[in-house]
Amino acid sequence: MKCENCGARYEPPINTCLDCGGIDFDQTTISDTGEIEVWTTIYVPPLSHGEDAPYHIAVIRMDEGPKLTARVKADSEDMEAGKKVELVSDEKFKLFRII
Ligand SMILES: [Zn+2]
Repeated sequence: MKCENCGARYEPPINTCLDCGGIDFDQTTISDTGEIEVWTTIYVPPLSHGEDAPYHIAVIRMDEGPKLTARVKADSEDMEAGKKVELVSDEKFKLFRII
């Protein structure tokens, strides 16, 4: 979503713009692609995700600018800052893959 006052973009949605304090938002949806900014591998996960470990968590900068934290399904040697990713699932959690 985009602040109608200053143009700042947010994902997930918020109620008040962190940049200008505006409360009017354009509900424009963003694309499903972005790039890895930083990432780490989780070896000791919370109990609820125990069977998934190890897995990668990344801060992803979407093409329109907002950043979000999500899982990336990839081999460790393929994980790298700047790699392009796309959303493949948004059900239990946001999951991306390298493209
Ligand atoms: Zn704003």
